Amino acid sequence: MSEFDPSTENLNVLTSTQTVIKDALTKLGYGQEMYELLKEPLRVLTVRIPVRMDDGVVKVFTGYRAQHNDAVGPTKGGIRFHPDVSEHEVKALSLWMSIKCGIANLPYGGGKGGVICDPREMSFREQERLARGYVRAISQIVGPSKDIPAPDVMTNSQVMAWMMDEYSRIREFDSPGFITGKPLVLGGSLGRDTSTARGVAICIREAARVRDIALAGSRVVVQGFGNAGSFLAKFMHDAGARVVGISDAFGALYDDKGLDIDSLLERRDSFGTVTKLFKNTITNRELLELDCDILVPAAIENQITLANADKVRARIVVEAANGPTTMEATRILTERDVLLVPDVLGNAGGVIVSYFEWVQNNQGYYWTEDEVMNRLEDLMVKSFETVYKTATARSIDMRLAAYMVGIRRMAEAVELRGWV
Ligand code: NAD
Repeated sequence: MSEFDPSTENLNVLTSTQTVIKDALTKLGYGQEMYELLKEPLRVLTVRIPVRMDDGVVKVFTGYRAQHNDAVGPTKGGIRFHPDVSEHEVKALSLWMSIKCGIANLPYGGGKGGVICDPREMSFREQERLARGYVRAISQIVGPSKDIPAPDVMTNSQVMAWMMDEYSRIREFDSPGFITGKPLVLGGSLGRDTSTARGVAICIREAARVRDIALAGSRVVVQGFGNAGSFLAKFMHDAGARVVGISDAFGALYDDKGLDIDSLLERRDSFGTVTKLFKNTITNRELLELDCDILVPAAIENQITLANADKVRARIVVEAANGPTTMEATRILTERDVLLVPDVLGNAGGVIVSYFEWVQNNQGYYWTEDEVMNRLEDLMVKSFETVYKTATARSIDMRLAAYMVGIRRMAEAVELRGWV
């Protein structure tokens, strides 16, 4: 049996998220009743989805949809297809989505969904049947003004297209606003593909400004070369920074003179793998300890921990991945005066442009890419400023400050509705 137990790991993630929510509510002057309501989702639906596989046999999959809180507006958050999905995980991720939406002032609470499956071992048509079956199973609790899903780990715009089509058939009218991250022709938004990396790049620029680091010529290290990491490396390269290190699941590349990002982008595969093409690689662990100005974990969770937080040499760490730095490591980095921009702020660009997509669907009027980018810039800069000012004014770390900013409006809405 493997030592890694996703369910226990995910329970740890949930409990540490609850601890930060509790600290944030206490600092905002809220008591135990508010915490009791906000520490868990209002609703978690577990569904069983029968899918006829290509060989004729019916396989039953388990899926979830968690809705943290809808006091501010409908809930919003992605759907992941992954073997490690669990109830604890979707719960924790729905809490994070609430914080992200609150920071960016979007009229949403957090939601999240997932199905325990491995799409890498399923055919295209099996994935379609699963996507449609999942939507049929959760259709009563979701909808354009109830709960709006989006892509997440191992789901993409094609899966969103199937899900939108299934929901529209059930409701008997076209419902593009049911889900975001759709292909352009079905009501997707321009700029959605690169939105997470754009948001991270804006946070890096703002963090460098407050720390008096010139971006041009600065040394940047990016862990992960997938959707978030590879676009980010390209944006940093184009901004004149020297990207000295990148990595994927198999190793890392380092060149103090700066890597040729355009060539790496051309050579990477669709899973964000590129280091297999090179002989002189270093490990992901060594990558995180490289001498650099800016470090961006953009791969997986639990990368900066008690074991290596004191060895990180970057002056700024911006989390593009969800949960790459543990709570203990956050404390160590903050004590060492490293500016840590937490995930709930750093990668909020994705849900911000998802919100723009939903607004465009509801209006039936579509924006240019420049309009999308200008509005993203505006919301990201405001979000960064609010969190940074809160952290500085209260002498607290950026993660706690982000949670305070993110939970404040929801707690206010809960009170005004008379729920607590
Ligand atoms: P992706 O699957 O496109 O790329 C992941 C990258 O990480 C790949 O290069 C992969 O090789 C690498 N990787 C996988 N396991 C690794 C390991 N053990 N060590 C080092 N590298 C490893 O994923 P993505 O969409 O870029 O997402 C990356 C992170 O960003 C995730 O935490 C995700 O939740 C978060 N995020 C992404 C988006 C988005 O819009 N893509 C939005 C918000 C948050």
